[in-house]
Amino acid sequence: MSADGPPQGAKAPSGGSAAHEVASVGATYIGRFAPSPTGLLHAGSLVAALASWLDARARGGRWLVRIEDVDTPRCVPGAAETILEQLAACSLIPDEAPVWQSRRGDFYQQALDRLVARGDAYPCACSRKDIELALAGQGRSHERHAELVYPGTCRHGLGGRPARAWRFRTRDEIVTWQDRRLGPQQQDVGREVGDFVLRRADGLWAYQLAVVVDDGLQGVTHVVRGEDLADNTARQILLQRALGLPTPGYLHTPLVLGANGEKLSKQNGALPLDLRDPLHALNAAARTLGLAEAQGPVTHALGAWQARWRDSYNRPGD
Ligand SMILES: [Zn+2]
Repeated sequence: MSADGPPQGAKAPSGGSAAHEVASVGATYIGRFAPSPTGLLHAGSLVAALASWLDARARGGRWLVRIEDVDTPRCVPGAAETILEQLAACSLIPDEAPVWQSRRGDFYQQALDRLVARGDAYPCACSRKDIELALAGQGRSHERHAELVYPGTCRHGLGGRPARAWRFRTRDEIVTWQDRRLGPQQQDVGREVGDFVLRRADGLWAYQLAVVVDDGLQGVTHVVRGEDLADNTARQILLQRALGLPTPGYLHTPLVLGANGEKLSKQNGALPLDLRDPLHALNAAARTLGLAEAQGPVTHALGAWQARWRDSYNRPGD
């Protein structure tokens, strides 16, 4: 078992799971930054890193880093180590050794087993082509972010076809939550997304399941991340409820836009952070968060932003 394996004495996912017990301890703030090592930190991802760090520090909480390398074919070898070096160069140091999702498959399997036992997950035999044909047969060609809304073909059995993936069984309900920056949010997951994938046909764990299980196991109380991830929140809340995990608070931070007006990413020219001048990079991230520029050294600037963050981003009930 790796260092990230289940703790000694962790119980099987029946009744009160280890995940539930860890997550329900106390009211201590625990935040996290969870980069995917599909590339290095750039100006956009530093905004989420800085915001999550400031929010944790401003509340006297703990700040964790989790390497979200569950989609292994997309990960760049060595990128995770470099991301940790980039964070360290910006004096953003996690309070615990980072965990790596690629080493935590046992936890995700336990959670899937639990969902299956509850009737909240079921196997799916459909290929993308099958789903397209089923949607066309229903007179629906609706696409959402190029993702097809699953038509529910395998909800009542596989009809003798081999299982490819596992899906979460959505109910007829609208999920609502409060985002500290975006305000009240809602999504009808069943209608807008459909029964979503938990384990992919290629055997890899889906982002949604891994995030929810890890936030629960790590006792994360506050999620601070980029606004491009806000759309995942309703699915994650459904999974938290099904797994008996508490729902953290949410704050989705502004995105840095690339020259083409879209979210800054490797694909539209984001450059890795220039570690020769971390204060310059941090000042740019701070401006995106509405914080005034601060003078060096870096630790002094971080302290100044922390005080301003405490004044501007903390409202009662957040
Ligand atoms: Zn199916």
